Amino acid sequence: MKSKSLKETIKSLEAKKISIKELNDEYIKNIKEKNNLNIFIHFDEQKIIDQVNKLEIDNSNKKLKGIPIAIKDLFCTKDMPTTAASKILENFNPTYESFVTQNLLDDGAVFVGKTNCDEFAMGSANNTSYFGNTINPLSNDDEPLAPGGSSGGSAAAVAADLCLGATGTDTGGSIRQPASFCGVVGIKPTYGLCSRWGITAFASSLDQAGVFTNNVEDASILLESISGFDSRDSTSANVNIPNYSKNLNSDISGKTVGIPNEYSIEGTPEEISQIWEDAIKYIESKGAKIKKISLPHTKYALPTYYIIAPAEASSNLARYDGVKYGFRADEINSLDEMYENTRGKGFGKEVKRRILIGTYVLSAGYYDAYYLKAQKVRKLIANDFNDAFKDCDFIVTPTAPSAAFPLSASQDDPIKMYLNDIFTVPASLAGLPGISIPFGKDKNNLPLGIQILGKHFDEQQVFNAAYCLEKSYE
Ligand code: GLN
Repeated sequence: MKSKSLKETIKSLEAKKISIKELNDEYIKNIKEKNNLNIFIHFDEQKIIDQVNKLEIDNSNKKLKGIPIAIKDLFCTKDMPTTAASKILENFNPTYESFVTQNLLDDGAVFVGKTNCDEFAMGSANNTSYFGNTINPLSNDDEPLAPGGSSGGSAAAVAADLCLGATGTDTGGSIRQPASFCGVVGIKPTYGLCSRWGITAFASSLDQAGVFTNNVEDASILLESISGFDSRDSTSANVNIPNYSKNLNSDISGKTVGIPNEYSIEGTPEEISQIWEDAIKYIESKGAKIKKISLPHTKYALPTYYIIAPAEASSNLARYDGVKYGFRADEINSLDEMYENTRGKGFGKEVKRRILIGTYVLSAGYYDAYYLKAQKVRKLIANDFNDAFKDCDFIVTPTAPSAAFPLSASQDDPIKMYLNDIFTVPASLAGLPGISIPFGKDKNNLPLGIQILGKHFDEQQVFNAAYCLEKSYE
């Protein structure tokens, strides 16, 4: 029998209680059975079998040998197409492997497929994907729920038991929010910990890779694999990657935990305030000191993010013009018409909205008033965290302002959708590591998430605090 724990499965494989083939056959079966959830953009059974056959005759020791992993379709993969869930990249086959996926392959992981996400990772419900919405596996029959976004397919893949771990990217909350919606663990490490090489760019000063798993220990194992310095990404940090899983320690006695006043937001459902309080009480009972802190510029985080992210996106997405690769519109009579029609037909509504906002805030005359101002506010937000971390070791907040909402409610109101990111975006702007772990349920029995934020490159502390909190319900 396969276990839902990546760590336990590694042990079973090593002890030869199960073979790599048996393990992956079970996952292939699950993936086919749950095809209706639309979790994968690319799934090719033969490619999984080929990877398994190679690993079965490989005698070297590899940390993740044979472990089925799902890859967000934003990571370039040599042997599988990479679409960023966009029509404009529908037939794109990268000629190179991203840093993150190469690391996983080097460690012996088996890629089971490429997961659905919001188009170019812009969204919070997976409803901007050109390939249709992923359905949250926790939905009941009459009410399909959103898996969250943008990495909704990856979170859903773990929750639906279609892999033992999945990669995601988080620009403003795209790992933490779907983790919370699907009831799994999701970590976004410090900006710079994992190279962005080979990740389809959305907002380069914010984009960060991370992972989804069923538990904290598994997340620590996978993060070790995907982290590291890479000279091909100029913002990659040259830091030592600790052995997070080996150093995992649930003892948080003597630590100081910051609870930010500004995260008590009017209109937050009672159940979310309740799980937050429960988490704080549990942490206190484990010997940590609770400290009320203030992050005074929090209220500016969302507007700041929705200036900076679209600004960078408008620049990054300029490359999709129908000239070199990807979709090209037909029926064109001039170069300008080719650009216009290719981009007009190739991008979805939300991506176009971001390009328009971004172009506007970067335009002469508005640059100072919007983009430059947003950069200054971003610095103030980062300073708030730096000040707070002088007096505390980590910060605890809710992950998202709601549980998974119905797909039918993943509406056309972009502002309402942007509000999903209210608790995740501040740490993104500050480049801090954050994890979401399932903690408690709402009145419909849907999972809610608690977010733990740490100092730059203090993923170990974030893992340890999450490991402690996880023990309250294990
Ligand atoms: N929901 C946010 C957005 O649409 C965050 C997306 C992300 O982190 N990739 O921008």
